[in-house]
Amino acid sequence: MIKIDDYKPIVGEEIVEELFLIGKQLRGKVVQNINSTSVGGGVAEILSRMVPLLQQLEIDARWDVIKAGEKFFTITKKVHNALHGVELEISQQELDYFLEVNNNNANSMALYGDIIFVHDPQPVALAEKKNEIGRKWIWRCHIDFSNPQEKIWHFLKSYIEKYDAAVFSAPAFARELSIPQILISPSIDPLSDKNKELSEQEIKSVFERFKIDMSRPIITQISRFDYLKDPVGVIEAYKLAKKYVDCQLVLAGGSATDDPEGEKVLNEVKEKASGDPDIFILLLPPGSDFEINALQRGSTVILQKSLREGFGLTVTEALWKEKPVIASAVGGIPLQITHKYSGILTTTIEGTAYWIKQLIQATEYALKLGKNGHEHVKNNFLITRHLMDYMLTFISLFHEKDVVHLD
Ligand code: UDP
Repeated sequence: MIKIDDYKPIVGEEIVEELFLIGKQLRGKVVQNINSTSVGGGVAEILSRMVPLLQQLEIDARWDVIKAGEKFFTITKKVHNALHGVELEISQQELDYFLEVNNNNANSMALYGDIIFVHDPQPVALAEKKNEIGRKWIWRCHIDFSNPQEKIWHFLKSYIEKYDAAVFSAPAFARELSIPQILISPSIDPLSDKNKELSEQEIKSVFERFKIDMSRPIITQISRFDYLKDPVGVIEAYKLAKKYVDCQLVLAGGSATDDPEGEKVLNEVKEKASGDPDIFILLLPPGSDFEINALQRGSTVILQKSLREGFGLTVTEALWKEKPVIASAVGGIPLQITHKYSGILTTTIEGTAYWIKQLIQATEYALKLGKNGHEHVKNNFLITRHLMDYMLTFISLFHEKDVVHLD
């Protein structure tokens, strides 16, 4: 098991000591995380790393998942898309069903936390219980709220405002609310199977297994098969670039259990890619962290051509691995990439294709982007910083005054 002390060589001793110091203030408090899926996607990824580390800091952190079926997740996927600004209609019956599932969960699951830490919109209405049971409630939003559909925003807002505080990933996502808002970027864990160092041999073994030729350039996008990740646009950009430079394309991803659209998107992607032996569509089962790590490390260029994005952890992961990344300037990606310094920001298929060609050819420049990206992630987006931000947020809930004395 990974120990907090293992982070010392990466972030320095002082930071780890500070974590213990702050953690002491929360001893005895139960932090109950609640979300809607235990595997797939960025939220599950972060929680699976965060919860054990909080426990090592002697905070009683736990993680529960709401119970819901496909009908609910079809609705919440629509809510998710509408919050990302996609034009679509959500009926009153659908909203009623959304509330019914939340209500059933609120009544059937144990809400035992001193701090109830609810992640994303799916379980947001659990907070209706707050009047009855009290406790401190935080709503953590991991998605891009910069341009939500008004109607759905108003619907959610009435539940969000029941919380003691809301946490957003980037300044652009913050909305007008009657409760305090806190900005906390997500993070990656440098010691997880997905991000730890790998040997050349380990990396090679994965490419061999998938029959991908490492002697030719490889461009890769790791993402759930989701329209908003624009895998079809990735294929178009690759095809354009390929007119000028030899390359192979890897599209790797699985689906999250709370995302019912995955299969449809995957079928479209397969059709678009058919007949090209240089396109590799890899359907990864949950827990393919080692494979994702190796694919990212062994690729020449990493893409994240999302149309909308929450924070974009795949970008963080790739930058940590010193990879040149070409990504859309959406969601939290511009917080991670400064154009032409720590990666490349694009907005079009043509622009993406242009930069694929450039980065495959200008290897020194690509290397420099990757190194700068790594430094930026090290300073801002590692799990140790994230732990600290969460703990300070928890502490602040128990202090009405602005000043907290850590004695
Ligand atoms: N991921 C994964 N398996 C997949 C696809 C993605 O483990 O098949 C991981 C990916 O490495 C990253 C996270 O899921 O850690 C995705 O987070 P991101 O913020 O990029 O997007 P989200 O899926 O949350 O929209």
